[in-house]
Amino acid sequence: RAKQEGRNTYRLFRAEMHVKDHHDLALETALRNTAETGDGLAVHYQPLVDRDSGEVHGAEALLRWTSSEFGPVSPGDFIPLAERSGLILPLGRRLMHLVAGQLRDWRESGLSPPRVAINLSARQFWQSDLVAEVRQLYEDYDLPPGQIGFELTESTLLDKHQQATDTLAALRELGCYIAIDDFGTGYSSLSYLHQLPVTTLKIDRSFVRDLGVSRSSGAILAAVTGLARELGLRVVAEGVETEAQLEALRDYHVTLIQGFLTGRPAPAEDFEARYLRSALVRT
Ligand code: C2E
Ligand code: MG
Ligand code: MG
Ligand code: MG
Repeated sequence: RAKQEGRNTYRLFRAEMHVKDHHDLALETALRNTAETGDGLAVHYQPLVDRDSGEVHGAEALLRWTSSEFGPVSPGDFIPLAERSGLILPLGRRLMHLVAGQLRDWRESGLSPPRVAINLSARQFWQSDLVAEVRQLYEDYDLPPGQIGFELTESTLLDKHQQATDTLAALRELGCYIAIDDFGTGYSSLSYLHQLPVTTLKIDRSFVRDLGVSRSSGAILAAVTGLARELGLRVVAEGVETEAQLEALRDYHVTLIQGFLTGRPAPAEDFEARYLRSALVRT
C-alpha cells in the first residue's frame, strides 16, 4: 500500500510538472528521440595536464547535445533531465561507444591517446550489468587495459558500501582508473572513500575558484591534498582558469590540472590536432 501511495504521489508530482513546465517536457521528448537515434550527440575532450612537464595525462569525455528543435543545450540542463528521466542510461551507453570508437580510430592511425575518463551518474553506476558492459566495450574496441576510466561523485558511493566496493574492484581489474569527481562538495569523509578502491580525487572547482579569496578554501585544500597523498591517491585540480590559481596550487603540491587555462573541452578533431599530433612531433 505504501508503494501504491508513493506511486500516486509521483503521479501527482508529474501532473504538476505538466502544467508548470511545458518546456521541460518538450525538452525531455527531444532528448528521448536523441537517446534513441543518437542524432545531435557529440563528445568533447578536455585534457588533464601535468603542470610541470606539460604532458597530457588524460582527458575527460564530456557529452554535448545539439537538439534540432532547441539548438545546443547545456549539459547543466540536459544531464539532470537525463538523470531524472532515466534517459541517462541509453545516453551514457551511446557516449561509451562514441568514446571507445574514437579511441580505436586514434590508435589505428598510430596515435597514442591518453586515458579517457567517463562520468557515471548514480543510475549508471548501480546498473547491475555495468561491469559486463564495460568489459564488453574493452573487448569490442580492442582497448588496452585502463584506456577508459570513470568519474563518480561522493554521493553515488555513499551507500551500499560492499556493492560499491565490488563494482569498483571489478572495474579496477580492467585497469580503469576511478576518480571521485567534485570532491569536497559532498558529505563523505576521505577516510571513508579511501576504503573504496578509488585512485584519484578531483578537487571541486569551487575550492580552486576561492583560492586566495577565502581562507577556508586553502585550509580545506591543504587538508585534503595532504591526506590524499598519504593515502596514495592522485589529486587533480579542476576548474583552473587563471595563472594566479595555478600558482597558488603550487603551495598544495597539486600538479595535475584540468581547466580552461590548460585546455578547454574540444571536439575530437581539435583535441587530436592540439594534443595527439603535436605530441607525435615532439617525440
Ligand atoms: P564535471 O564532471 O565536473 O565536468 C567538468 C565540468 O567543468 C565540465 O562542464 C567542464 O566544461 C567544466 N570546466 C572544465 N574546466 C573549467 C574551468 O576552468 N572553468 C569552468 N568554469 N568550468 C570548467 P560541462 O561539460 O558543462 O559538464 C557539466 C557536468 O555534466 C559534468 O561535470 C558532469 O557531471 C556532467 N556530465 C557531462 N558529460 C556527462 C556524461 O557523459 N555523463 C554523465 N553522467 N554526466 C556528464
Ligand atoms: Mg567529471
Ligand atoms: Mg568535476
Ligand atoms: Mg563539476
